[in-house]
Amino acid sequence: MSKQVLILPGDGIGPEIVREAKRVLDLVNQQDDLGLSFAEAHVGGAAIDATGVPLPDATLTAAKAADAILLGAVGGPQWDTNPDFQIRPEKGLLGIRSNLGLFGNLRPAILYPQLADASTLKPEIVSGLDILIVRELTGGIYFGQPRGIREKEGGIREGFNTYVYDENEIRRIAKVAFEAARARNKRLCSVDKANVLEVTILWREIMEEVGKEYPDVELSHMYVDNAAMQLVRAPKQFDVMVTGNMFGDILSDAAAMLTGSIGMLPSASLDVNGKGMYEPCHGSAPDIAGQNLANPLATILSASMMLRYSLDAGDTADRIEAAVSKVLDQGLRTADIWSEGTEKVSTSQMGDAVVAALSA
Ligand code: NAD
Repeated sequence: MSKQVLILPGDGIGPEIVREAKRVLDLVNQQDDLGLSFAEAHVGGAAIDATGVPLPDATLTAAKAADAILLGAVGGPQWDTNPDFQIRPEKGLLGIRSNLGLFGNLRPAILYPQLADASTLKPEIVSGLDILIVRELTGGIYFGQPRGIREKEGGIREGFNTYVYDENEIRRIAKVAFEAARARNKRLCSVDKANVLEVTILWREIMEEVGKEYPDVELSHMYVDNAAMQLVRAPKQFDVMVTGNMFGDILSDAAAMLTGSIGMLPSASLDVNGKGMYEPCHGSAPDIAGQNLANPLATILSASMMLRYSLDAGDTADRIEAAVSKVLDQGLRTADIWSEGTEKVSTSQMGDAVVAALSA
């Protein structure tokens, strides 16, 4: 039976980078007889323009029916002024994540040796870096109720959000993280703020409890402020890090920059059954949209993660990752990772090179 992949190009550079990833998927689908079939739908700003809402019913229905979803990025300044937060592009993304129960976000930060110079950190600090950040994605302060901006006595306005996790939410992300650590170097660092926030005292307790089921994985704990510092001081001390939604949002972007470019980093968001949405870690980059400048590799590597985690095609994923490494060996670089002595290429030329490497 064929497997359904839903493609959501989104906004900004989304359509350009997804186009290259789709070319790669079409090729490997044919080469490796994967039996994939594809559908496409609107999300984010593109969906607002087409239908008035960031997550049309048809898109959500297609997302639920699909075996896996590949997303470009959403957002852009033209939609940011809408005072109704429900009609913002990001709501489309958050809506898919919460409706599909995509609670487990895997964000690898790998520094390809060919790009050691692209990092702003010294090569000896980052070369060979290979961290996986596991971020809880559907709970915590981004979703907690009540939330809002209200007026208190004296007409003073105050903003408020609620940081809440129940033990089941913590337990299921803990399991994702321990499983991932078990498949890697068996070290898991749980990041919290248990010296200040009760919700993360519970987080730490449940991590310890789940850890008893994984005696082969070494569990440690770190406060988020220290984790931020350690990530830039000595990032190679980490193997897998697990943390809540907001801390994960921030730490994974910091980890991304250790590698030199956010344009290289894929991500997966998984449900309890391993179905997932795959997307680059970066946003829609409105500053370079439509100029054939964006780096499509994070999206191509997201497609590769999709094959590995949701479509049972790990060997094909290996081939795609080897092809990406090969084009870097050839010295081809989009502008974001370009350095003296390498060849600057466009979005589509980078896609051509990966396709050629896969065909060779
Ligand atoms: P961004 O990641 O879009 O861009 C940050 C910088 O990185 C920009 O200079 C951009 O040109 C560059 N960049 C990003 N991706 C690149 C790529 N593939 N190749 C080359 N350079 C790349 O973040 P931002 O500027 O904070 O946000 C822009 C828009 O994206 C906003 O509307 C924001 O809400 C949205 N956003 C969406 C997502 C998502 O869809 N998952 C994530 C983050 C931000």
